[in-house]
Amino acid sequence: MGAAVPFAFQDNAEVARRFPDLHPAFDSNEALTEANRCLNCFDAPCAAACPTHIDVPRFIKKIGTQNLMGSALTILDANILGASCSRVCPVDVLCEGACVMLRYNKQPIAIGRLQRHAMDHFWERGAHLPKKSSRRRSQKIVCIGAGPASLACAAELAQQGFSVTVIERHALPGGLNTYGVAEYKLRPPDSLREVAMIAELGVEFRFGVSIEHQSDLAALESEYDAIFVGVGLGAMHELHIPGAHHNVNVAVYVVDALEFIARYKTSGNLTVGNNVVVVGAGNTAIDAAVAARRLGAAHVTIVYRRTESGMPAFGFEYEHAKQEGVVFEWLAEPVAIHADPASGRIVSLECARGGSNFHLSCDMLIPAIGQAPLRSLLERSRGPKYYTGGDCANGGREVVDAVADGKRAGVAIAKSFEAADA
Ligand code: SF4
Repeated sequence: MGAAVPFAFQDNAEVARRFPDLHPAFDSNEALTEANRCLNCFDAPCAAACPTHIDVPRFIKKIGTQNLMGSALTILDANILGASCSRVCPVDVLCEGACVMLRYNKQPIAIGRLQRHAMDHFWERGAHLPKKSSRRRSQKIVCIGAGPASLACAAELAQQGFSVTVIERHALPGGLNTYGVAEYKLRPPDSLREVAMIAELGVEFRFGVSIEHQSDLAALESEYDAIFVGVGLGAMHELHIPGAHHNVNVAVYVVDALEFIARYKTSGNLTVGNNVVVVGAGNTAIDAAVAARRLGAAHVTIVYRRTESGMPAFGFEYEHAKQEGVVFEWLAEPVAIHADPASGRIVSLECARGGSNFHLSCDMLIPAIGQAPLRSLLERSRGPKYYTGGDCANGGREVVDAVADGKRAGVAIAKSFEAADA
């Protein structure tokens, strides 16, 4: 079964049971039938809509001729994280949203699931990522952060023969793919398996290393010829609620959405309240709310200060949350957390709507109101050796945008050393 995962991770059977795949894999016949529906459009709008510009008609055509390995290599040539993107991409608003089938009032081609079919085959065969050059390049490059942008940059450079090191403050690589994407889209072992293929290219990983001070950057500048900064975004914004906090045990009963998701996915801690309130209505808020339901919360409410039409989450995420039983309170602004003074246990969240206030029963509060940029590190990462990409540069977009950024940076770094190595 595929490449060995060198990153120690204990899979949790209970989590797997509670979070079955949102879009189960195609079997061979289903994949063949779906591939044969594709019109193999010239100037394919699906490929143009993909930030990494995967040659969609080409990889689908190869599935149609049962050349699954060739199909996977076509995907990987454009997008080294083609496996995780096939699971986490919002295809409705990217490739599948652009499919010409929609113009004929037909179902768009299931590009994401076909891509997964090809990539699963690649893994099951234990295949390895190809090198792009047999040249050994003399420069050393370091990527700060082991999320999708850094991984794409590292892979591109390693494929071109450079010596690459990735440093990461967490214990595992993959960034949000490992820690922050809902389990029913992408499981940590799959994220780690993908990183393992990049490690096999010769990329060195160092974990538990934080780059915080000017001296850390200075040390990297003296050791490496180029530095890619792909650190993502910082901590989630805290919920600053005016009014009574009355001894709320914040450490236990208030958990930000990313922490909540990372906790059930990677630490085995499946603790959840019975009446959960999530504040915010972005895609991460939806992921956290659905997870709370799957983990056993009887009531999960999303509180949002605007109306339904102003919510940042994608429409299909919103529909999914409603199907899972998540309730939405629109035009509601949290004003106070009320807790039992003796235990610190939260009992309700007070919200304002219009001129009046109302209380929602709440024993677990999950703020999901965005992440702060890591400004100080970015401001210090300036100079001819520095490149940047992914969420820390674009403010927080999709995994596929980060992959596109990272690859572009890798290509640019390689090009900058062309003259030196000529
Ligand atoms: S737009 Fe749709 S039909 Fe055309 S190549 Fe892309 S997936 Fe196939």
